[in-house]
Amino acid sequence: MLEGLAQDFQLTLPYILRRAEQLYGYREIVTRRPDRSFHRHTFADFVSRAKKLAVALKGIGLEPGDRVGTLGWNTYQHLEAYFGVPSSGAVLHTLNPRLHEDDLAYIANHAEDRVMLVDEALVPVFEKFRERTGVEHAVVVTEGGEVPHGMISYEDLLSGAEEDRFEYPDFDEKQASAMCYTSGTTGRPKGVLYSHRSIVLHSMMSAMGNTFALSEADCVLPVVPMFHVNAWGLPFASVLVGAKLMMPGPHLDAESLLEDLEEEEVTLTAGVPTVFLAVLQKLDEEPDRYDLSKLRTMVIGGSAAPKGVIKAYEERHGIEVLHAWGMTEMDPIGTVAHLTTEMKKLPEEEQLEYRAKQGYPVPFVEIRARGDEGFVPWDGETMGELEVRGPWVARSYYEAPDGDDKFTDDGWFTTGDIVTIDRFGFIKITDRSKDLIKSGGEWISSVELENALMAHPAVSQAAVIAIPDEKWDERPLAAIVLKEGESATEEDLQSHLEKDFAKFWLPDAYEFVESIPMTATGKFQKLKLREQFEGYTSTKN
Ligand code: AMP
Repeated sequence: MLEGLAQDFQLTLPYILRRAEQLYGYREIVTRRPDRSFHRHTFADFVSRAKKLAVALKGIGLEPGDRVGTLGWNTYQHLEAYFGVPSSGAVLHTLNPRLHEDDLAYIANHAEDRVMLVDEALVPVFEKFRERTGVEHAVVVTEGGEVPHGMISYEDLLSGAEEDRFEYPDFDEKQASAMCYTSGTTGRPKGVLYSHRSIVLHSMMSAMGNTFALSEADCVLPVVPMFHVNAWGLPFASVLVGAKLMMPGPHLDAESLLEDLEEEEVTLTAGVPTVFLAVLQKLDEEPDRYDLSKLRTMVIGGSAAPKGVIKAYEERHGIEVLHAWGMTEMDPIGTVAHLTTEMKKLPEEEQLEYRAKQGYPVPFVEIRARGDEGFVPWDGETMGELEVRGPWVARSYYEAPDGDDKFTDDGWFTTGDIVTIDRFGFIKITDRSKDLIKSGGEWISSVELENALMAHPAVSQAAVIAIPDEKWDERPLAAIVLKEGESATEEDLQSHLEKDFAKFWLPDAYEFVESIPMTATGKFQKLKLREQFEGYTSTKN
């Protein structure tokens, strides 16, 4: 091989930090504080504080590769951790505070988090599982609020560190930079370990024209939490291009978001359908109240963006919705539903059909779908399980051999999404092979609920399926067969589950049935059950 003579420049996050320092010091980062007031500072402040964090982490003895957990909303401090932690050589591990404390304890232990940065509002969540972890340094992120017993203050940690002691490191781009656990698998949550290279490449791809077309002129509001796959990579991509950031903090209600969008002249926002459905309702109620003329793109993903929502935003409010698909295992962006020039020649109604699909692969993501008879043709009809590969797709889970079956022998990742692929390369998710329910962007495991329900003394069999829900997209319904001569009410079963599961996991409906359809091998026939309850919609909203 004749080797090319380009420089062996490593693709790392400290490079993005240095670029922000050199070029975009004037750019702003705005955060909604818990008391709803706005905190404002610049990229220059952000870089200085991220460097201090990196110095401080070394100062308390963190070694390269050690994990630093975060329990936080979208805030400027969390952004500092996004860059400060990986720039110190440690690994940023964002935890999802909506999970049950048992899962959080498991995740913090599995990742062996040595430090935990905790938003002051989330201290009660942390306290529920702290004792069960090996966290050595618990840091409360507060602007002068009380420091709980056994914790140190984030501001004290930073003020004890000298910025000048920070030296931009020369990491190998393959070094781990961040990790995130997914509950979107069977069994225990599984860790996905990103490299510096995978995040940098993902950021460049995100900024491309046919992805989110990000530039310095943008103001980005990630509604998607920073504990959901790095807020879909938007904080990294925004700092790379010098886009202003509007961080909503814990205020994810429609009214706050609409105010943020208007006042900070946001150009691109992103989140799950549930959030933007609430925003749409508010806009419909008061169509003339907010000036959203600067908002050019609303990215909806995490669950399917309903066609009606895409149309309503466009027709009633002049806002373009961009549908995207991704996974924790891929940083997460995989496909985006931009229409090509060819597709824009199609009748409008047909164009809308395509925009409601999940889109075609972004550069460097390759797709194929495997059906019963091998890989399916790209005919838009034949269904198969989607497999992906690319530079930001995981090649295995972090120390979880029970997830190995998700990776094929020839190096592709099996997504668990059942799709069709059409002649334009657009995927459409038609089903899910994983027995899970996605409610408001968060996973619920049917199997875990079934096992817990079947542990109730009156229950003989329990099968849990997803039912469509306008607000949350999907909600759990439990079909129950009682033991002969036993009785239990919906309330009994609900209180039986309450102690072990997060509130949003609890089924919206219990249906007491004679029997549950079974396969020849004794498994529940979920497909049949779903047919049986077709048209059933949740009434709990
Ligand atoms: P997570 O790893 O939690 O981000 O979940 C990834 C999974 O969410 C995918 O495998 C899909 O099942 C689902 N998902 C993500 N985006 C979409 C979308 N646009 N439409 C339908 N399902 C989606």
